Amino acid sequence: MASSEIEVVTSSDSKPNETYQQPPITDVYTASTYGDLQKLRNFVEHDGASVTVPDGNGYYALQWACLNNFHEIAHYLIQHGADVNAADHNQQTALHWAAVWGSIPSADVLLENGARVEATDINGYRVAHVAAQYGQTAFLNHIVVKYHADFDVPDNDGRSPLLWAAYKGFVDTVRLLLFRDASQRRQDKDGCTPLHWAALRGYAEVCAVLVHAGTKEELTVKDNAGSTPVQLAHDKGHRHVALFLSNQLRAHSNQDKICGGKLTEVGYAPLLLFVIVFCMILFINSVVTAPGLKKITAVVGLWAWTALSLAVGSLIMFYRCSSKDPGYIKRVGDLGGNAEDPLLNIDLNSSSIWAGNWSQLCPTCKIIRPIRSKHCPTCKRCVEQFDHHCPWISNCVGKSNKRDFFIFICMGTLTSLLSGAIAIQRIWTSIPAFSADETWMHHVLVNHPGVIVFLVIDVVILLAATSLTIRQASMIARNVTTNEIANSKRYEYLRGPDGRFRNPYNHGCWKNCVDFVFVGHTNDDDIAWRPLQQIAAP
Ligand SMILES: [Zn+2]
Ligand SMILES: [Zn+2]
Repeated sequence: MASSEIEVVTSSDSKPNETYQQPPITDVYTASTYGDLQKLRNFVEHDGASVTVPDGNGYYALQWACLNNFHEIAHYLIQHGADVNAADHNQQTALHWAAVWGSIPSADVLLENGARVEATDINGYRVAHVAAQYGQTAFLNHIVVKYHADFDVPDNDGRSPLLWAAYKGFVDTVRLLLFRDASQRRQDKDGCTPLHWAALRGYAEVCAVLVHAGTKEELTVKDNAGSTPVQLAHDKGHRHVALFLSNQLRAHSNQDKICGGKLTEVGYAPLLLFVIVFCMILFINSVVTAPGLKKITAVVGLWAWTALSLAVGSLIMFYRCSSKDPGYIKRVGDLGGNAEDPLLNIDLNSSSIWAGNWSQLCPTCKIIRPIRSKHCPTCKRCVEQFDHHCPWISNCVGKSNKRDFFIFICMGTLTSLLSGAIAIQRIWTSIPAFSADETWMHHVLVNHPGVIVFLVIDVVILLAATSLTIRQASMIARNVTTNEIANSKRYEYLRGPDGRFRNPYNHGCWKNCVDFVFVGHTNDDDIAWRPLQQIAAP
């Protein structure tokens, strides 16, 4: 790689953005910078000051007003002759400056008065590049939706807004650009893709979004120095990023090798089915009806049939939770191909409605998903109230099958507990008096190996099912998902005003449990933020 860092060449770093340390307002530039319309009027209308000439550093009053989002000042300046396309020595216009802090109303004033949305500065940056460099996701979406700004155009070094957002680690901006089909394969003058830059800078979440939304081919692209994203992450010491990328690469190449990827999709459900059926046969043959053991009593026989009935019940629940739709969210194509831009009607200016939760965009499914849902890379779909993807049932656990899943693991726990107890009771009552050279363990191993095999498998299942059941029960009581616990730091809706974990969906243990038992899930769409579909609906 030619250079490991790229610099944002813009004069805006030195621009003031804080109005509380207000110096004396002496001219049109300071009046525009600090939004003093009254003084600006005095300078222009009484003192005859010009608004069309730049200040001593070559910057225009309109640029200062737009940078600090004083759209009324911008409007006044334009009315009094300011050129909306006037460029400073970097060839940056007021629109470039408006993008720095995401001043949407100022951008509207400029663009409605003839500003060129594709104006480029000396580095080839357009307003879309600047918005991406500063992570102004709402601003970027606004100029793309309303003014059709090109969001995939390269600058002079071949870097698109997506590459800049990835380099700067703005995951929401990356998500928006991928949602809009920005190219992941574009390589800059160093041969780097967005994934190269995100890996080099160690942005794990950006890497995850890029990889999951991509074709996985991006993992193997080499830059001009011959490095893949994995190698760059490794070289820079970003171990967790390197590990994630190499795991993805391995999964991708395995997918190609093993049955065209079918094994990954099928998961371990057939194996679990085999183990359950095998255990049931072993239980009947080696525990209940084994000829070497004492004749079974009526009470133990009844318990044995109860255990077998529970096992059959578990199989039914296993089938239900692995075959049921876990709560997949419909995609645009599923709804009959209505291709209208889902972001078109979102009122970005209304902060009370729009909370700016860009993580609700799924770049893969091209949908705005409700809060609490997540894209499952294995199922390749977004799942409502996503809990986790369970390879043992080869399905996601989500809003629609979580109750079935919980009943399944509860029944699994009960079955393994009961059948294990019966197996121990059967051996215990069948042990004869030993001769001096034979221990009971030796006797059981030699005479009843089937029972031992059954007990070993049963204990493994019991431990796994019990820990899973306790964990799930505690989360159901708090109405929180496995995914939310694991990624709580990533979800803003799980943070209180003090920045600490706060679950807005917790209605109290009793209501959480009652809702779960009778409905299967809680209806919590209205809590915290309304789902964006409602906002986006015309
Ligand atoms: Zn999705
Ligand atoms: Zn899944």
